[in-house]
Amino acid sequence: MKFNPEKYRITDEPMKPFIDAAEIDTLLQHARPDKDTVRGIIAKSLDKHRLSLAETAMLLNADDPELVQEIKEGASRLKQAVYGNRIVLFAPLYIGNKCINNCRYCGFRASNKEAVRTSLNTGEIISEVEALEDQGQKRLILVFGEHPDYSPRFIADAARTVYSVRKGNGEIRRVNINAAPLETEGFRIVKEAGIGTYQIFQETYHPETYKRYHPSGKKRDYEYRLTALDRAQEAGLDDVGIGALFGLYDWRFEVMGLIRHTNHLEACYNVGPHTISFPRVKDASSVNLQEKYRVSDEDFARMVAILRLAVPYTGMILTAREPAAIRTELMQYGVSQIDGGTRIELGAYAKADHASQNLDKEQFKINDDRSLSEIIDELIETGHIPSFCTACYRLGRTGEHFMEFSVPGFIKNFCSPNAMLTLAEYLEDYATPEIARKGHEIIEKNIQLLNGNVNASEIRRRLERIKRGERDLYF
Ligand code: SAM
Ligand code: SF4
Repeated sequence: MKFNPEKYRITDEPMKPFIDAAEIDTLLQHARPDKDTVRGIIAKSLDKHRLSLAETAMLLNADDPELVQEIKEGASRLKQAVYGNRIVLFAPLYIGNKCINNCRYCGFRASNKEAVRTSLNTGEIISEVEALEDQGQKRLILVFGEHPDYSPRFIADAARTVYSVRKGNGEIRRVNINAAPLETEGFRIVKEAGIGTYQIFQETYHPETYKRYHPSGKKRDYEYRLTALDRAQEAGLDDVGIGALFGLYDWRFEVMGLIRHTNHLEACYNVGPHTISFPRVKDASSVNLQEKYRVSDEDFARMVAILRLAVPYTGMILTAREPAAIRTELMQYGVSQIDGGTRIELGAYAKADHASQNLDKEQFKINDDRSLSEIIDELIETGHIPSFCTACYRLGRTGEHFMEFSVPGFIKNFCSPNAMLTLAEYLEDYATPEIARKGHEIIEKNIQLLNGNVNASEIRRRLERIKRGERDLYF
């Protein structure tokens, strides 16, 4: 049953912030992990229980290399148990980069006069989506700056336009949104367009640091941003994504903030975040950030493993901000979704020439500019099933992360077969002959691994139907 804030509201006072920086500091200061404690916490997570803040602090303070290794191994085991070997693929589509805010890390900030400002019109959105469909994409995230032009209706219309585009066998089946916080009514309007996840990153959960990095514009208001996803829930939009921008403040504090935010959503609405994102700050147009809180590659891997253990059911997203080698490494510790074929310059997908990045036209620098085809090839080579599955959300299986996490056989009965079916569609419509050959091999191998848990002959029947030209078959 969902919490209904209207029914239970006893005061008109604004909601109290649920992040208490002093509490997080105290927990981090007092967590002194020994081997037995850390091992006990890993075991609890492997038993599929979400970790408390105090337990997360223990893992964050476990600096002993032997324990760090055990944390990573625990995360790998959990990832295999909860997500199997499939990796969900998507692409970002930047719709508009006008912005009234002045986030000091972002190339789109209002004060950056070098930034070339654009908003795609309907025709341009259609051209971009056609180009994305030609790659084989099925899931997009639309990205917006914060600006009066990007009203809830504008965002909803953009999503509707994307869903309407059909090129050949191409179609976009899930549109997620990354945009500014809205009022409850705004979230309602956007939800009506049939969006998937609404993502908002808090950037930093540390209030003082937040103030420093957001000197002006609406985004100055820490609490308004922090409570945005509560308003989304009030609007009935229960599929939400959280995130922090790593490199602004101490990474341990940010992980604690993400877990506290997760606890809050679970406690109030019975649904935790559908996804957690953890971008590291990258170079951007006219951006010069201090190095003090830069997160090293080792700490980043550790952080991903700890997040995986702390919130076993959530989807974890690692974008093309990171280079290919790091993305490949971190998939083993819990990353479950990556973008592929990414271009973040506005209008870039429809342009034939993808030469070099122009930071004045982009929000930040991307470090993995491989095509979707190259990424799929590597995923298959490393034993993954690239997945474009959108079945749960379209069948109304909400709270899917909980189902996946808690219902025995869910992955084998639904997720893995759907990953195989969507991969098979890709292989028929978009793959080179060599990738098609390798892809069919991995599908066959995985059908055999299912070991009778699902009706393997039904999967084979559907694969045959896909070969004969049917599309969009799912369990
Ligand atoms: N304007 C909206 C907002 O700020 O929420 C939409 C999202 S913004 C276009 C997407 C995200 O990119 C931000 O939330 C921030 O975490 C991230 N970002 C901004 N500048 C970045 C940089 N220099 N390096 C990496 N990520 C960055
Ligand atoms: Fe604007 Fe978002 Fe960039 Fe901040 S992060 S300047 S709100 S686009």
